[in-house]
Amino acid sequence: MTTQDLSADLPSAPPQPMAAAIMRGAHHIEYGQIDKPRPKPGEVLIQVQANSVCGSDLHYWHEGKIGSAVVSAAFTPGHEFAGVVAEGSGADYGLADGTLVAVDPAQPCGHCFWCHEGNPHLCPNMIFVGAPPHPGAMAEYISVPLSTVYAMPQGFTATQAALLEPLGVAMHALDLAKLRPGSHLAILGAGTIGLYVLMLARISGALRLAVIDPLEYRREKARELGATAVFADVPSYLASVNDTPTRGADVVIEATTSPLGPRHATEAVRIGGKVVLVGIPDGDEFTLTGSQVRRKGLTIKLSRRMGDIYPRAIEYVRSGRIDVNAIVTHTLPLSQVRQAFEMLADYRDQAIKVVLEPQLP
Ligand SMILES: [Zn+2]
Ligand SMILES: [Zn+2]
Repeated sequence: MTTQDLSADLPSAPPQPMAAAIMRGAHHIEYGQIDKPRPKPGEVLIQVQANSVCGSDLHYWHEGKIGSAVVSAAFTPGHEFAGVVAEGSGADYGLADGTLVAVDPAQPCGHCFWCHEGNPHLCPNMIFVGAPPHPGAMAEYISVPLSTVYAMPQGFTATQAALLEPLGVAMHALDLAKLRPGSHLAILGAGTIGLYVLMLARISGALRLAVIDPLEYRREKARELGATAVFADVPSYLASVNDTPTRGADVVIEATTSPLGPRHATEAVRIGGKVVLVGIPDGDEFTLTGSQVRRKGLTIKLSRRMGDIYPRAIEYVRSGRIDVNAIVTHTLPLSQVRQAFEMLADYRDQAIKVVLEPQLP
């Protein structure tokens, strides 16, 4: 080994560049170079192979922020990702180079009241990969704590592994819904989460599965994935349930980005029903009508992240019961990150889920 080789391992060695998406605020994302991360003790270096674009990434695109998480400096987004263990960084933990892993982007602190209570997804000290200021995985490499890494069983692709993240979010929302066999479920929003909720609910015993979305191509996808009926808006949904005893859904899962989504959900749900809010509203505000939600005696739950769902999500996909790829409409090289964001923001080319691959030319 030459002295030059040795110096590469020293902390003082100059950082190596790597390709990454760089966001500088609303409507500003470019493909450029940042420093390649060096794994700290307890971390694994991942060579990213797939990173899907999430609705929350689009909030940063549209508004430059989600609540208090603000893009105030150059920042790399991306939290739905998978890749392979690189450069011997997993050797101490029994992870050989090239092992395909999925990564939970949430890093709860592990020592606060909520972590101890068994609700790490509610941890107020949580570090979230790809939420500013914490760099995300729309890059060639990312270094993450071993505790957030899940080795994939044989046969998984990187895209499937990346999509475990939104699948987990949908599973948690459905967990909160406590759907009973024979229930009527209405889903607002046929984006990634809404469609995953649909696919999960279909094998969880819901009898009627209505999907409401203003976009025709998304309704079409919902129909393809097992919706028993699709509607462009809540009034047309309500007209269709007029002759049923409940005249509304037992459970509504709201998975839109509209500030009106929660109100529409409370309109679509039956008296005494349940609403689960999982969407992130544009502008961070929504309103409900007090008399309506009160007189209906609604249960309204807000879904936050997911908790320890990865093992269950992996089993769902491994068993073939859920085809996570069914919603992927585009796979692009990471260098086309800007086009990916624009396509999704404009609902162009029938886009639903766009996967970015750093290794694609
Ligand atoms: Zn996401
Ligand atoms: Zn905590």
